[in-house]
Amino acid sequence: MQVRLCPFCAGEIPLTVSLCIHCGKELRSMKMAHPYEIVRDGLQYGIALGSEVRLHGLKLKKAQELEALLNNVLKDEKVG
Ligand SMILES: [Zn+2]
Repeated sequence: MQVRLCPFCAGEIPLTVSLCIHCGKELRSMKMAHPYEIVRDGLQYGIALGSEVRLHGLKLKKAQELEALLNNVLKDEKVG
């Protein structure tokens, strides 16, 4: 099963749920502002856009850096 990581508590959650099963935070509202998500990719992590995994085989720290970077780029594009 495909999982993503909660942006608040970094717990693993199914892609389909809109509330974090660990910390109970609403995730659906994150979707628009943060379309890129960290997902579990085998033993490592990947970056997904929507439900499609675009990057594979990342360490968690790298995945977090890239996710933040990609979401920031997107935000800047919308503003500028
Ligand atoms: Zn959480």
